[in-house]
Amino acid sequence: MPDVFADLVGQDEAVATLRHAAAAAAAVLRAAHPAAVGSGQAEVEGQPGVDPGAGMTHAWIFTGPPGSGRSVAARAFAAALQCAYGTGCGECPGCHTTMTGTHADVRLVVPEGLSIGVGEMRALVLRAASTPSGGRWQIVIIEDADRLTEAAGNALLKAIEEPPPRTVFLLCAPSTHPDDVSVTIRSRCRVVPLRQPPAAAVAEVLVRRDGIAPDVAQWAAAAAQGHVGRARRLARDPEARQRRDAVLAVPRRLTGVGAALDAASALIAAAEAEAEASVAEADAAERAALQTALGAGGTGRGAAAAMRGAAGQLKDLEKRQKSRATRAQRDALDRALVDLAGFYRDALTMALRAPVAPVHTDTAAMAEAGAQKWDAEGALRRLEAVLECRAAIEANVKPRIAVEAMMLTLWKG
Ligand SMILES: [Zn+2]
Repeated sequence: MPDVFADLVGQDEAVATLRHAAAAAAAVLRAAHPAAVGSGQAEVEGQPGVDPGAGMTHAWIFTGPPGSGRSVAARAFAAALQCAYGTGCGECPGCHTTMTGTHADVRLVVPEGLSIGVGEMRALVLRAASTPSGGRWQIVIIEDADRLTEAAGNALLKAIEEPPPRTVFLLCAPSTHPDDVSVTIRSRCRVVPLRQPPAAAVAEVLVRRDGIAPDVAQWAAAAAQGHVGRARRLARDPEARQRRDAVLAVPRRLTGVGAALDAASALIAAAEAEAEASVAEADAAERAALQTALGAGGTGRGAAAAMRGAAGQLKDLEKRQKSRATRAQRDALDRALVDLAGFYRDALTMALRAPVAPVHTDTAAMAEAGAQKWDAEGALRRLEAVLECRAAIEANVKPRIAVEAMMLTLWKG
């Protein structure tokens, strides 16, 4: 049976750090309850000389590029902390409930909109201060900690500065750059850097865990550029493959200004459609749940007053859903831009005759033709145009404006 760290692909160093910390954390618990050693006896013998506390701390930041497994690492570490054996065995109730998201002392915060608000954070910090019901740790995992508002960041900082003795905060962010995580929060956390996993390691996990055929797994792992979740989607979901094909058809469709602007419209429309499909189901379910809770259609006493309050709640819900839709659109567009960047990167490495494997094996011939036509310099200018477009959208430039500018540069060079 693989332990909880098995799916953390190509991250040996980070896994070693986390195993050590989990063992240290278990030693802290044993030191606090010497009488309760019982079930953990084997582990005491297996981990001689672990100094209680060394290697363990109350706040951690997992950094790395999208898809490197930041939240996978955080969840695996949480499981190891809740593990009855302190190792992350993958089989005990502590491991099992943490990995399936049902452990009472592990809270996962996934921001649905563009940012995590202060109200949400205050409530979370308050609950995290309570005594762990399972007798081990209260754990809060914050995915996309870079999307905290400043006020929410301050609320979190207060908790991290004076942590309750059994509370652990696990933050996930792209990097420790001050744009992502405030310097004061960073200074209170231990950082676990994750790297972009090599394609071979990603392919291996797709075959082993998901039962995907080795040749498909290898193609998908390369095309996804180290993003494990994306590789799995490409290998399994024909619609995801179609969307990628459409994106990779862009370079050969750029034959003039009109075509470039058409390509921009098509790219944005595709991102919108993909985003809409991904949030539609959740939107409808939430609206139905709220309407039921509010007793929609009720005619009894107090129904009029309830309806007045209901309008406000419905408005709040719509605002949250709109924010989530915007985020989903940006994420979809960003995936398309990463695919496109991979194509121009292939053209660049081919123009340079660099001995590296192409990202997109299925468009390698087209990239080679581009390399001949543009030379390294032209390929580099185009690659830079894609990367600038990503940065512009992240900096809140309207997507249509950024994508049109990019398409014109991709056409003209
Ligand atoms: Zn376990």
